Parts: sequence; structure tokens; C-alpha cells
Amino acid sequence: MDSRGIVFIQWDAMCHREFRWALKNDLLPGIAECFDDGMNLLKTYNPLPTNTLNFQVRFMYSPDSIIPGSRWLDRATGKVFSITRFSDVRKLEMRLSDSNDSLLTQDQVFGTLLKGKTLQGIPARPKSHALGLAFRFAGDVIRHPASSLHFKRIYLSFMEQLSKQNLRTIETLLVHAQKPLFYINFMAYDQTSHFRGLRHRQTMDVLKTIDRQIQRLIRLCNNTGYNPVLFSDHGMAPSIPFHKAFGITFTAFINQRFSDLKIKPIILPSGNMAHVYCDASVKNDIDKLEGVANDIGSHAGIDRVILPRHPDGIRVIQQHDSNTLNEYHWEENRLNQMIQKLASHPDSGDLIVFGGIWNGQVINFMNQKACHNGWLLGQAESFVLSSYPIDPGKTDDTVSVLRAMAFSKSI
Ligand SMILES: [Zn+2]
Repeated sequence: MDSRGIVFIQWDAMCHREFRWALKNDLLPGIAECFDDGMNLLKTYNPLPTNTLNFQVRFMYSPDSIIPGSRWLDRATGKVFSITRFSDVRKLEMRLSDSNDSLLTQDQVFGTLLKGKTLQGIPARPKSHALGLAFRFAGDVIRHPASSLHFKRIYLSFMEQLSKQNLRTIETLLVHAQKPLFYINFMAYDQTSHFRGLRHRQTMDVLKTIDRQIQRLIRLCNNTGYNPVLFSDHGMAPSIPFHKAFGITFTAFINQRFSDLKIKPIILPSGNMAHVYCDASVKNDIDKLEGVANDIGSHAGIDRVILPRHPDGIRVIQQHDSNTLNEYHWEENRLNQMIQKLASHPDSGDLIVFGGIWNGQVINFMNQKACHNGWLLGQAESFVLSSYPIDPGKTDDTVSVLRAMAFSKSI
């Protein structure tokens, strides 16, 4: 690949399946045109937990780092950690910044990718007049203002809308910034499909808009000598909220099962997965915890329940059947490794719960019409699309495929 660098274009939450469907139905004419003379579409997967920040943590810092969910209990401080809170994300990134294979320079953060706002105190001083200008533009015109500049290796940006002005800003940056890597995340499809559902009219409108915006961006890449790489960070599946299927919220259901306890458990759902944290009296009474896990796991809306801290090792409970992680027969081997990693995270719940399938839809512990893919195998789809051949090596993990490209280009 002979180019000045790579522009990574993230289509947040677009599945490989939906992407092919939209291409087949001529809903993505812009992208189809751009990749006309050669389209290398690789179906990839993303490990648990499937959410954008986990994807970006792995991409920026190391494929071996994971976060436990979109919210979790930080056991060191006893406080709930949320990926939508900047101060939390910043703390997380300070911890991660020691990683040797990071694409970011130490002390730089990318939390802006998620929310599109500038963190106060972020070291983002443009070093040249042209960049200063571009940065001012970026700060002024990108709808969720600003972006963080990471001068060593990568420029990160975020947007819902790619206006003409935004495009000019990106052009200035591509021409002057002399960075080998750019990363742009389009988030509107994820947001709309969560609340409207896949294939809803509004979701389809967003899909068409993003197609046009990506087309513009790819043309700009071609004009400035950059290779565009389009990918998704995770997919999306139609889902039904737990309370709609069963007439009770997931939290109320869990609290009922723990009603004899003085202190209610802390329940932190992320889509169709949830961490449940119990106080010491339950945690130390493993028979009790396993009994509750059995009871929860026997509910029709709940798939497997994981007990990360059982004295015999991680346990998997399904319909009153309790096995160690290694005894348990998984549909795919990598599920075993994913659960191992998630359950071994120091901040994972005392129970980890996954939603099942109800009337053909995924049970979601949040109030959403579509949820991130992840647990059930048919959903674990994302993709990488590039105009030059992709050599995935031995992996089809999206992050590893993209990082192989990034490191071939980074300084
Ligand atoms: Zn999402």
C-alpha cells in the first residue's frame, strides 16, 4: 500500500449482515461507487463486551486490554464507573496509557471520540499555523464541538454530520497535519437504531446520510493520497427490553430474587449483558450466590449466568446446570476465551448475566429497540472494508486487523 497514511472511518454499530443487505438493495450508492474497482470486505468479530469504548480502548491501547461493560463498579473506590462520564474515561485512560503498544502518546486521551466534546485540560496545542486554523475550525464547526489532536501518531475526530465546513477542516488536516493515521467515527446510526430499531424509517434515513458523508470523505482521501478503511466497531441486533417481554424491569426482577437481603445488589446493565454486584454477606456465601444464579438463569429471558469468583474457578450456569468454564461446552471456542477474559477482569460483577432470545428477538436489559451484538453467535458480526487487499493474518478480530494496518503506517 503506497499512500501517505490511513483514514480509519468507523461506522458505529453497522453489522456485516446489515451492510451487505444495504449494499444489495442499493441503499449505499456512495460507498459502492467509491469501492467500485475493488472492494475487499472482510467479515470480522469483536470480543465481549461489545461496545464502542471497549473497541476503541483495544484499538488505541492494546487488543489485550478490555473494559468490563458500559458501566461497572470500580472495586478500588467502590464507585460506579460510567463510560459516558468524561472524568471516569479520563481516569481509565490514565491507567491504560502505560501500555507499550499504544497508538497514543502518553497522557493523551481519546474520550472525545465517544462524546465529541473536549476534555478540559487535554493537551491539544496545535503546533503550526495551518493546524491551528484547522483546529479552530474543528472546534467551531463540528456539531459536538472539537476533537483532540494527538500529534505523535494519530488524529482523532468525531462527528454526526459531515458538513462542507467539516470536510474542509478535515481536508486542511489531511494536507497539513502530516499524520499517518486519522480516525473518524460516525455515531448517528448507532444512536438512532438503539431507540428506533433497525430498518426503521429514521434509521434508514441516517444510513443514507452516512453513505453520502462517507462517499465525500473517501473522495477526499483519494485526492489527498490517503487510504480510506471503513469498518464497524460492533453490530446491532433487534431487541426487546426485558420489561416489555416479562412485565417487570430487570432491576426489579433481580431485586425480587435478592429480597431477603438487607443491602440490595448493584445492577449495571449494558445492552443485553449486565453486571450484578452483591455485598460481602452474599459473596462469601457461595452456595447462596449459586442458588440465586440458578434461580435467575432459569428465567426464560436470561441466557447463561457467569459466576466469576467461585472457589472452583469461573462457573457457567444455564437452566440449573452448573459447570466450570472449561467443562462447559461452548458453541465456539473463542466464547470460552472471551468469557474467561471478561470474568477475570478485577471489576467484573459477582454475577454476569446475558439476555436470551424471546420471540426471535434478543432480550435487552435496557430500554432499547436494538442492542449491540455480542453474546449470541449470529450477532457477532462487524466488518472491515478497504480498497486494497486485507491480510488478516491469523485473526479475524476487527481491532487486530486494523492495528496491523495502523502499525504498518505509524511513525
Ligand atoms: Zn450503541
